[in-house]
Amino acid sequence: MNPIFLYNTLSRKKEEFKPLKSGQVGLYTCGPTVYNFAHVGNLRTYLFEDFLKRMLTYNSYKVKHVMNITDVGHLTGDRDMGEDKLEVGAKREKKSAWDIAAFYTEAFKADLKLLNIEEPTIWCRATDNIPEQIALIKTLAEKGYTYQTKDGVYFDTSLVKDYNKLSHLPLAELKEGARVEKNPEKKNPTDFALWKFSPSLGVAGTKRQMEWESPWGVGFPGWHIECSAMSLKYLGDEQDIHCGGIDHINVHHTNEIAQSEAATGHKFFNYWLHGAFLNIIGGKKMSKSEGNFLTLENSFVKIGINPLAYRFAALQVNYRKPMEYSGAAMKQAAAGLDSLYGQVLALGQAKGKVNAEYKKDFLEVINNDLNLPKALSIVAAVLKSDLKDADKRATILDFDQVFGLSLAQADKLLPKDLNLQDLPAAIQTLVISRQEARGAKDWEEADRLRQEIKKRGYIIEDVSGGVRISKL
Ligand code: AMP
Ligand code: ZN
Repeated sequence: MNPIFLYNTLSRKKEEFKPLKSGQVGLYTCGPTVYNFAHVGNLRTYLFEDFLKRMLTYNSYKVKHVMNITDVGHLTGDRDMGEDKLEVGAKREKKSAWDIAAFYTEAFKADLKLLNIEEPTIWCRATDNIPEQIALIKTLAEKGYTYQTKDGVYFDTSLVKDYNKLSHLPLAELKEGARVEKNPEKKNPTDFALWKFSPSLGVAGTKRQMEWESPWGVGFPGWHIECSAMSLKYLGDEQDIHCGGIDHINVHHTNEIAQSEAATGHKFFNYWLHGAFLNIIGGKKMSKSEGNFLTLENSFVKIGINPLAYRFAALQVNYRKPMEYSGAAMKQAAAGLDSLYGQVLALGQAKGKVNAEYKKDFLEVINNDLNLPKALSIVAAVLKSDLKDADKRATILDFDQVFGLSLAQADKLLPKDLNLQDLPAAIQTLVISRQEARGAKDWEEADRLRQEIKKRGYIIEDVSGGVRISKL
């Protein structure tokens, strides 16, 4: 196996990846809260996790990937205050919380499909794992980590020595952050709910829809306990890599670690990887609660932009760097992807061999903490190289196992009949130069430019009054 280096939030260093079981990887990725559509920010994190999984698979690891569906317990305030997001969704749409969860779970899976994100080996719903969560809370209670207040059972974070080991923040700062949402009954601001009692009345005066019996009273589990219970259940002793967006570091993942290690007495996941945020241009974070909320449907599908352009854009930014979003940037990404499809198509359909040297370079960069922008530059180098077209194609399609851009289906993904302004800038320049050559009656140059345009995946035909341009 080739060495793989991953930036671990726990150590704040790039570390060589060593799985617990040879040749296998246990991967847990925190899944969506299914009370609304995923926004493109959320989807950036799922894309990053998909690239990671594909990279591990490309390295011949057998990846066991578990993703949860948060269909209960995630409150509007991440720190156990406010309403359950599912109940809020139910009220908003006048449906049951169960119907809301089912609808948005399917919508999420449809988004994954549009983005070529592979489904996990195991999907698991919080509501299907209530007994497991209760059992874990019982263990914590037996070990003396819990206390009860009027509204629930809480985890006492002061009993954990290294509560800040993931965030690396001084405890005082973590406490300060936690003070935003006050609960006078908590012993420490950072303590969090493991089990919340059903209030007599919930969202806008209605009774809670999702609730269960427990040794402490009727209620529902806290958000953090579900990920601990399900990752312990489904991955057991294969707790290799745990991922999420950077917003999960200080609260959700910190609490998952605290309670899991308190319960089991051993380390909970060796590698913690976090994806940086997608920001709307100007640096503002995209969030449902802020109302600046773009979905795959309204930002790509409805306006005729191939959703894979988003995947292509995400490949161009390191996963640990913020990514800027704008409609113009996505259009540019779509044109860039079309150009790549065109170039791959122009290589023909003949079978070739994967070039060993380029493959070695490719492995080195993807194994270096998933340096995908650099990996894309190797594709450009392959295209420019003097390899035979069939070998170029074979090499690029091999890399596409990690990119997931469906390059083998380039012919089906290219739109036909284009306007000049829809073309990548380089092609536009070639088309204009060819018109100029024709104007100057330089037929040889015009023909050379036609070939050049064809090489890049476009057909140009002279028709009365101008030219017709289509994809190869
Ligand atoms: P949620 O459905 O709110 O539980 O979030 C799902 C995933 O999206 C989590 O891994 C979050 O960390 C991540 N996330 C939330 N907002 C953004 C954003 N603007 N950019 C990237 N990832 C995000
Ligand atoms: Zn989680």
